[in-house]
Amino acid sequence: MTFVFDPPAVPSVAVNGTDARLPVRRIFCVGRNYAAHAREMGKDPDRDPPFFFTKPADAVVDDGEVVAYPSETENLHYEAELVAVIGTGGQRIAEADALSYVWGYAIGNDLTRRDLQLKAREAGRPWDWGKAFDRSAVIGPVHDVASVGHPSNGFIRLSINGEVKQDADLNELIWSVPEVISILSHSMTLQPGDLIMTGTPAGVGPMVPGDVCRIEIAGLGQIDTRIGPRETGP
Ligand code: MN
Repeated sequence: MTFVFDPPAVPSVAVNGTDARLPVRRIFCVGRNYAAHAREMGKDPDRDPPFFFTKPADAVVDDGEVVAYPSETENLHYEAELVAVIGTGGQRIAEADALSYVWGYAIGNDLTRRDLQLKAREAGRPWDWGKAFDRSAVIGPVHDVASVGHPSNGFIRLSINGEVKQDADLNELIWSVPEVISILSHSMTLQPGDLIMTGTPAGVGPMVPGDVCRIEIAGLGQIDTRIGPRETGP
């Protein structure tokens, strides 16, 4: 078979301790998964089933890269998140088995054009323009389960230019990683290379060009992202 033009490169993320990279298939994101963040977004935290949105696989950005301030926003936000990386595909996965489908974990930053997201939310429209833009998913090196186990507690912390903005514990997740995997897999067939961004704690806020955003999660090290000058084209 031939293609009428060259197919795009496979999006991928770094893996801790090796030059080999992990191919990315899809990026699923959990909305409002920490109670204090739900409240700061003007919503009641509850145990209603979690809801999801997605980002394109080729939105991934490595640790240490510069991300240009994106177009069409005046309110670019950071969101520190634990990312679970699926290594084995499956559907209708039982919660008790869910962790065996995980390849590893990474630190993520769910970059958000908050003004566009809130406008869409209020109008009952999709979140894509607020969440799924170019280079909107910073994903640090993936640590395999053999090295880090399955993190379910420990700090998750974000600072801008050294000033702490988010400081919480992974044990505050409303829906745990096994619960999220089980619920997602009853809706879609999970595949190797699917990333799940598990939600952000309270303290979200804006970044401007020149800011350096650092996220640390217990056991997973840290990642840094610098915000570059505003995009000029296309
Ligand atoms: Mn998020």
